[in-house]
Amino acid sequence: MAPVFSPPLHRQRHQFVIDFVKRQKPQKVVDLGCSECSLLKKLKFHREIELLVGVDINGAIIKKKMHGLAPVSTDYLQPSYDQLRIELYQGSVTQKDMRLRGFDLVTSIELIEHLTLDDVERFSEVVFGYMTPVAVIVSTPNSEFNPLLPVLAGFRHSDHKFEWTRAEFQSWALKVCLAYGYDVEFTGVGKAPPGQQERVGFCSQIGVFHRLGGRESSNVLSDDDAEDGFSYTLLYSINYPSLRDNNILRRVLVSEVLYWAEKLKRRWMEEKTGERDEAEECLRASEQRIEMEEKQTACGARTNHPVEQCGREVLEVQEGEDEEVFWNNRKGQQESCILHRSVSVPLAVLWSCCPKVSALSGSLSNLRHLLMDEPNVKLSQDGSAVLLQEQDLEEEEEEEEDNDVEDSGYGEASQCPHSAEQEGDWEANI
Ligand code: SAM
Repeated sequence: MAPVFSPPLHRQRHQFVIDFVKRQKPQKVVDLGCSECSLLKKLKFHREIELLVGVDINGAIIKKKMHGLAPVSTDYLQPSYDQLRIELYQGSVTQKDMRLRGFDLVTSIELIEHLTLDDVERFSEVVFGYMTPVAVIVSTPNSEFNPLLPVLAGFRHSDHKFEWTRAEFQSWALKVCLAYGYDVEFTGVGKAPPGQQERVGFCSQIGVFHRLGGRESSNVLSDDDAEDGFSYTLLYSINYPSLRDNNILRRVLVSEVLYWAEKLKRRWMEEKTGERDEAEECLRASEQRIEMEEKQTACGARTNHPVEQCGREVLEVQEGEDEEVFWNNRKGQQESCILHRSVSVPLAVLWSCCPKVSALSGSLSNLRHLLMDEPNVKLSQDGSAVLLQEQDLEEEEEEEEDNDVEDSGYGEASQCPHSAEQEGDWEANI
């Protein structure tokens, strides 16, 4: 009976690379012969990778689907601390390009059999002798498996220049190791039917190469190498949004501060006017908790870092928890107050009550510094509090029509602790 692969063989090859990436955590990865970028699209979710590069001789095939590598809206709305840059090049693996040196992992999945044997020699020199990555994964068809594949006459693809037996593949790989200072383990994906595995091996044979000396061994350019310069053509490059970019950090921080300040203002005003129904509040909180627990169980994963992202479900759970932490931490903190028809929410309260705000800003003084020149955030004169409009504009206008001279805010301001006199001490108060 002909073998049927489940999952399909190409997925098994990609999964092999992904499992390797999960274990070894390479930061710079290049996929040679990346074709339609399908492996790169999976690797971009592994955010230990900071630089992800694809190379193919066929520019048209790269361009076909390369935009699928662009960040999606959640990458902008919930940026992570991790950095990721993706670059795609048109170029041949038989030519050197300086930009491909110094990588942690090079993958070559079902590529070498598309090269002539002379070009395989060049490939070996370029990859192992010039790029000198820490690790290389090479997969190629195992011709010993071919008799088990249905209706196959000749090679598995019309463009294949050869298909090697296990002995041929291993002979090439061991020569490479000797010439360029690597060792290699042989494995594969696509198992043979029961009882035949030993005789025919895997459908796709794989060599995993490690540079002798590992990450510590040097990867220095000689003058000759430096002359090779840039022989590939850059087709696409993108930087993923990251909180390490100061502008992005500010944007996220501002929206976080405004969100929590607004919540705090509403809660405080409800408490002040006695509109808050404690019993109903209690019921809502316990319902929310049950819902969150259910979501957590369903998702089965969560993140510990207050600003890290995972799936949307986890974000909601995290938000719910943040809210609980927020209200709990608030107890005993300096209160909000009304100042010149604005509600003044102390930064100290926001910083110590909201884990996201404190994680993003690092310190209370940094929080003040980051918000100081923000056009969307109004700070009190002494910079110790965020000022929010007391009421919705509509309500305010209605009120103004009713009574023009009612409220100068003077009396309340005189009772507000966030006045200029308090300035020196506000940070020490928390
Ligand atoms: N690695 C892909 C994957 O896992 O989905 C599939 C690779 S496909 C079978 C072989 C690719 O190698 C083709 O896209 C082809 O254009 C590319 N290729 C062939 N010769 C090349 C060369 N000299 N340099 C770079 N890429 C080459």
